[in-house]
Amino acid sequence: MNFKSLFTLLIGLTLYSSIYSQTEDISKIPPCGVREFGPSNWLREFQTNPSAFSHLRGNNDILQLPMTIHIVGQTDGSGYFSRAELQVAICKLNQDYEEHNIRFFIQGPIIYHNNTSWYNHATFNIGQLMYNVTKVVGTMNVYIDNNAAGNCGYAISGADRMYLKKACIRGTNTTTWSHEMGHALSLPHTFSGWEDTTYDPTQPTPSVVFRGNSPVNVERVDGVNCAEAADGFCDTEPDYLSARWNCNSNGLSPNILKDPLNVEFRVDGTLIMAYSNDACAAVFSPMQVAAMRANIQTVKASMVYTGSLPVIGSLTTVNISPTQDQEVLNVNIRLDWEAVENTSEYIVEVSRFADFNLKEFEAVVTTNTVTVPQLTENRNYFYRVMPVNNSDFCTRFSPATRFRAVIQTSTTEVEGNSFSIYPTILKDTEFMSISGRLFRSMDITFDVIDLQGRTISSTRKNLPAGPLAENLLVGSLPKGMYIMRISSAEGISALKFLVP
Ligand SMILES: [Zn+2]
Repeated sequence: MNFKSLFTLLIGLTLYSSIYSQTEDISKIPPCGVREFGPSNWLREFQTNPSAFSHLRGNNDILQLPMTIHIVGQTDGSGYFSRAELQVAICKLNQDYEEHNIRFFIQGPIIYHNNTSWYNHATFNIGQLMYNVTKVVGTMNVYIDNNAAGNCGYAISGADRMYLKKACIRGTNTTTWSHEMGHALSLPHTFSGWEDTTYDPTQPTPSVVFRGNSPVNVERVDGVNCAEAADGFCDTEPDYLSARWNCNSNGLSPNILKDPLNVEFRVDGTLIMAYSNDACAAVFSPMQVAAMRANIQTVKASMVYTGSLPVIGSLTTVNISPTQDQEVLNVNIRLDWEAVENTSEYIVEVSRFADFNLKEFEAVVTTNTVTVPQLTENRNYFYRVMPVNNSDFCTRFSPATRFRAVIQTSTTEVEGNSFSIYPTILKDTEFMSISGRLFRSMDITFDVIDLQGRTISSTRKNLPAGPLAENLLVGSLPKGMYIMRISSAEGISALKFLVP
């Protein structure tokens, strides 16, 4: 290989890796970093001494648990999981727990941390440190970052914290958050004990597997040791699969496994606490649900919120501005919409594309209006709005409204009154000539505005009807593009000029 082809190969590899990192394949990422040795002491007590918890089994009260959401970004403040993505992710979490009358809400403000070593944290120790420094006691602490110690997520069993890789909780079809919440509410993996062992179909299945030097029972199909083996739940069937797997159309493992007595079975992939992929994982078993509800009502009883959580009203498209296909001046574009009941914030997005994949502007605001300083002129844009609060997560964006951001170059007309500016390239002069014709006498305000939307100067004049010939002092302006905004009772107009 000569130097040139080596160079080409290196360039190719660099391009490949940068493309690869943008489209991260989460099916290649280990689902979870939890390494529990079977049920915790609390869960063992729950499983072996049911009479101590019988008073909790009868009730089906709605259990509302507060979460503190920690959004971790890089040190420069980039990389946050967005508020809109968070909305979708918590909606999915709550859908997975809804039929079990367990509901999660955000308590207090979302906390943003700018720390690249936390954002990309590769070890559990850094996760522990992050928790020690930032935890909010009395809530479930959820850390959303770019790397959760090499996994899609991990949690501390039965505790008040979990760590989620943002790529693994994005969208409506992911179960990583529900899985990690399951751990935090005491649940082990359905294949508990096999975490560090690969099932080998060519070998007889042992009756115990080892984690370190500790033996862990292997669950049999006949259920003989189901209460001691694996997760200790007899309504979750044997599962030995400790790497991510896809299920067949029946929600089962495509491969047939054998238990220690050589009895064949397929693993149930519908259980969220298995390692089946997001397309099949969907449910908790009744005993898993009973354990989670008991865990909340004992260990986490002080966290439970019994008040009512506000539900967001519906977003209507009346009184929106701009309206569909309206032309608006491309300076300080004001977007308005109807206020929505029980909303604390609105997410606003503006894009040139109806799918909003690329956004020219996005903001989270507390009022039902926002000003967009500047867009690329003479183009169509779409905008949409999503109302959010800290307890109702299944709201979605409004339908998109299209508008056009326009600007005139040197001549414009408002209600029959015409205006021209000269020169449009302002060089070696601090004056601009405004010409045109007015149909009646009027007050006119001339504003010079920069491309960040800041008003640089403002001059108000009363001008007579007839031909218009005004010299306007605009002063010494820094290099750049500017807008002369001409406003009167008749309307508003904007003309562009350049200071080279
Ligand atoms: Zn797990």
